[in-house]
This record gives sequence, C-alpha cells and structure tokens, in this order.
Amino acid sequence: MLIPRAEETDRAGVWPEENVRKLGELDLMGITVPEEYGGLGMDNVTWTLVAEELSRACTTTGAVFGAHILCVEPLLLFGTEEQKQKYLVPLAKGEWIGAFGLTEPNAGSDAGNVQTRAQRDGDHYILNGTKIFITNGGEAHVYVIIANIEPEKGPRGMTAFIVEKGTPGFEFGKNEKKMAYGSLPNRELIFNDCRVPAENVLGGERRGFRVAMQTLAMGRIGMGIGAVGVARAAFEAALPYTKQRQQFGQAIANFQLVQAHLADMATEIEAARLLCLKAAWLKDQGREFEKEAAMAKVYASEVATRVCSKAVQLLGGYGYIQDFPVERYYREAKLFEIVEGTSEIQRLVIARHLLKGV
Ligand SMILES: Cc1cc2nc3c(=O)[nH]c(=O)nc-3n(C[C@H](O)[C@H](O)[C@H](O)COP(=O)(O)OP(=O)(O)OC[C@H]3O[C@@H](n4cnc5c(N)ncnc54)[C@H](O)[C@@H]3O)c2cc1C
Repeated sequence: MLIPRAEETDRAGVWPEENVRKLGELDLMGITVPEEYGGLGMDNVTWTLVAEELSRACTTTGAVFGAHILCVEPLLLFGTEEQKQKYLVPLAKGEWIGAFGLTEPNAGSDAGNVQTRAQRDGDHYILNGTKIFITNGGEAHVYVIIANIEPEKGPRGMTAFIVEKGTPGFEFGKNEKKMAYGSLPNRELIFNDCRVPAENVLGGERRGFRVAMQTLAMGRIGMGIGAVGVARAAFEAALPYTKQRQQFGQAIANFQLVQAHLADMATEIEAARLLCLKAAWLKDQGREFEKEAAMAKVYASEVATRVCSKAVQLLGGYGYIQDFPVERYYREAKLFEIVEGTSEIQRLVIARHLLKGV
C-alpha cells in the first residue's frame, strides 16, 4: 500500500491520512508501549526493524511515525499514571497523533537555549514563544513542548509540557516548503499566553533538558534506521537496473567499477543497520545507549546520502529524472544528516563519551 503511493506522497502536499490511519489499525503507533496502555508492548529492536521497513516503503510515512514516537517516548519514560491514561493510551492506539517541539529560531543545535517562556499562574503555566520546523505540527493532537521557566538559567530552567491541540493561545504558523517530503507537515507552533494546566508538566519542573535529551537518544536510533530504510530503497532500485541496462553490448553490472559501487552500497547499509540494532538492543537491556545511538545516527545518515548518490549515478541520466524514484531518495536522504542533531552534533556527543574519564 505504501510503495505505490510514495511518489505521490512526496509531491502532493497533502497529509497522508490514510497511511497514518493504517499504522494505527496495525497497532504500530504504540509499538513500544506496554499493552496495559493500549500498545503492542514490543521491544526496541522490533520497533527498529518496523521503522526500517516503513522508511524503505515511504520515507514520509516513516517520518510521521518517527515524530509520533518522539511524543510517545517521553510520556512512557516520564509520564505520571494520569498522564499515561489521558495521553499515552490514545496515542498508542493511533487515535491521536503526537509531535515533539524543541527547536526554535535560536535553539537548534544549541538546544539548551530554548526561549519559549513558561510562567506559573496559580494552577496553570502561561506559555509564550515559537517553535519551528515541528514535524506533524498542525496534524498532531498532542505536543511535548520544551519551554523554560527560568530562561536566565539556561538548560537548568527547561521544563517539558504536554500541550493539546486546540488549547487557547496555541496556534500554528508557517508550514515549511522543503527539498523533499512535500506531504510532511513542518509547522511553526506559536504560543501566545497559552494556559497549560500545571498537571501537564512532564517529568517535573527544571527537568526538561533531561526529558529532551533522553527522548532524542531514542529518536536518533529512529533517524538512523530511517536512513537505512531510504538507503535500502535506493539500493534495491539500482541493483536490478544494473542487470537490465545494456551499454557496450552488455549489462552494466558486468563492469567491475559498477560492481564496486554495489558492493560498497550493500556493505555500508548492512553496517549501518547493525549499529542501529545494537543501540536498540542496548536500550532493551536497560543499558547506556546514548553514544551508540549517536554513532548509529551519524553513520547511517551519511551512508544514506552516499548510497542514494551512488544509486543516482548507477542509473545515469535516468537517475536524475523523475520517472525513477532514486532522485527522490537522494533528496529524502539528506534530511537524516540534519534532524535530531546534525552530524557535527552527533560527533560531539560521541567524543564527549569517549573522553569521559580519560
Ligand atoms: C524537516 C525537518 C523536521 C524537523 N522536525 C523537528 C521536530 O519535529 N521537532 C523539533 O524540535 N525539531 C525539528 N527539526 C529541527 C532540527 O532538529 C534542527 O534543524 C537541527 O537540530 C539543526 O538545528 P538548526 O537548523 O538550528 O541548525 P544550526 O544549529 O544553526 O546548525 C547550522 C550548522 O552549524 C553546525 N553547528 C552548530 N553548532 C555546532 C557546534 N557546536 N560544533 C560544530 N558545528 C556546529 C551544525 O552542525 C550545522 O552544520 C526539524 C528540522 C527539519 C529540517
């Protein structure tokens, strides 16, 4: 169902409602959520395998799923019982869609610089500020928003809030036009004296930076495996083409330079997948996985860009035109090097772990 529509989904500029509904019907929107909260109760390795298949079939649908999981994960890790019953259950059942809002105009890589302000007012907080680029923005029903109750304290004032669509003072701004993913919403979230009940603080006051970092650690496995998915789609398009395409009186697959490309592509995809699975497995074991998630993300995203570029190359002129999907994979792949921490930031995270205690 996803593969035949993937091209249209890239260009249509329309929320892929049917795809998302289907994910809900298959119970995938709560794949890692325990059964008692309406989920499938599966482990992170299984989630990773599913995310690869989704991204391979339709990278946009994979991205919707990935952003939804960024809302599910902090609720799972930090939610109170009441918050889980109210928000996690409908998210896990796919009745509601989730989103995660951290990025602001001046807080991208510098995630500790969040300026969205939250001020206590009785049994509410009043939020003011703007988030940008938020995946699923406008379509999602529930948003985990990182704000700051004491901006002068930087990360130590950051606090996570659960905000429902439709809350007065919470509006959606510009939907970004992008290099790819035409149907994926990436909207501004605008908070203008938005009153959020105090019971919607997630994980406690001043713990928002931790909520964000732990959410992103899981998200990076998701980004890594999403990159593996798109790389695999490109490889699987290029491989049979090299056997069909004749030049110099024979299939181009007979040329050793072409074979070298194919060998490198397959090897790198395999290595990237294993890094992602290792990080997911560590998480399943309850072990530290932040470094491995960063390794998986930086390596897999750069593999995806290389593999998709090689796929375009192997198809020659046909790789560059829109009759074949590889030009789309090439455009889609680039995003993985940027979101949820750029490649530079992943390398800083890895180095911080390596140098710790040396
Ligand atoms: C399609 C899309 C979807 C997104 N979805 C979401 C979402 O759902 N939720 C959300 O919160 N955010 C989302 N984002 C935001 C995304 O995570 C940020 O764009 C990303 O973290 C980079 O931040 P930035 O764009 O501000 O770039 P900048 O931080 O301005 O970085 C610019 C360049 O400077 C480099 N740089 C910055 N600091 C350093 C440093 N210390 N050392 C070395 N190099 C450095 C970066 O690596 C990069 O190359 C999305 C973005 C896009 C494009």
